[in-house]
Amino acid sequence: MARLILQQGKERPVLRRHPWIFAGSVDHLDGRARPGDTVEVLSHDGKLLGRAAWSPESQIRARMWSFDADTSIDHAFFKRRVADCVARRMAHPHLRGQDGLRLIHGESDGLPGVIADRFGPVVVVQLTSAGADKWREAIVAGLKQATGCTAVYERSDSEVRKLEGLEPVSGLLDGELPASLSIVENGVRMEVDVVGGHKTGFYLDQRDNRLLTGQLAAGRSVLNCFCYTGGFSLQALAGGAASVLSIDSSGPALATGARNLALNPQLDASRAEWMEADVFEALRSLRAEGRTFDLIILDPPKFAPSAAHAQRASRAYRDINILGFRLLNPGGILMTYSCSGGIGQELFQSIVASSAVDAGVEARIIHRLSAAADHPIGLSVPEGEYLKGLACQVG
Ligand code: SAH
Repeated sequence: MARLILQQGKERPVLRRHPWIFAGSVDHLDGRARPGDTVEVLSHDGKLLGRAAWSPESQIRARMWSFDADTSIDHAFFKRRVADCVARRMAHPHLRGQDGLRLIHGESDGLPGVIADRFGPVVVVQLTSAGADKWREAIVAGLKQATGCTAVYERSDSEVRKLEGLEPVSGLLDGELPASLSIVENGVRMEVDVVGGHKTGFYLDQRDNRLLTGQLAAGRSVLNCFCYTGGFSLQALAGGAASVLSIDSSGPALATGARNLALNPQLDASRAEWMEADVFEALRSLRAEGRTFDLIILDPPKFAPSAAHAQRASRAYRDINILGFRLLNPGGILMTYSCSGGIGQELFQSIVASSAVDAGVEARIIHRLSAAADHPIGLSVPEGEYLKGLACQVG
């Protein structure tokens, strides 16, 4: 096994169990390793710190699999780690009974580059690093054993694979996909398209925030921006919203939203309206028409994938938040999110605060929001925190 020797002093993050070794921390590689191969990681003075996956193409040159001298990285290792993740989810009373559940959340679950989501009988995996890619078979075997799923589908089509020099891959890895797939989330049935949907097919991270939306929506007029397949819209209807206008630029996502509504005959479809439009333009038109709402949800796509995009992204967040605040009735609530890793909680709050000032409203935070418990944040990997939200009520 090749040995990665760190530069002097660069062992500190590894000793604090941070799993990433950046190119600038590597002194040299002793021996030969291909992408994804396991390497031993040593401090400059020769102390063995653990084992990592080698990613020669990436600025993150290696990702730690283990932080000790003894653990072998083999089939049994992945089986154990996968089983541990699944057991942790099953031990949580809010997660145990969920049809749709993130089973493995990458770095924060001790499996860098590995995402696995379960949708009923199907598990979808996304492998984003050279090491994860290499151990595909062991990870899939572990998932099958730990979940008893009938199919495993791969959606490794994320852009970040490019940084690792990996091609996008998607397809069935095991079993057979059912003709149609849906999950029940907080009493609402939602179709999941694991083949063509965003990410692994569905945004599981917003589960708890959708439930809160339902609770806040009773009797209110609701505007759901960037609605995708209607997750927030349907929870708002379930909570007794007076009306729900849902906007997205994707026709297919809206069509799925309408199908989802039909899957839930308990909901009053006459209260729902779907609009295919660019949210930035639609919000301006709604304002020009003098429309107002009691509850507005802004859940935009990732405007800033990394800190380098933060400035441009900040402007986009400001634009929609100013417009959102302006469209609220007195006493109304804005539920606003950012899923950009490049925009931290503090920065996001300051953007929302200046948006309120520019909109000329006085607002207060009534809920701080984050991803659901099946998207944990490793204490040693704060970078894992990407989704943040604020529910702000205007005076
Ligand atoms: N809130 C959704 C997830 C939102 S994902 C849920 O709970 O499932 C972001 C969505 O924004 C996608 O559906 C995408 O089609 C849409 N989108 C991206 N840019 C947009 C724009 N400028 N205007 C309208 N929709 C946009």
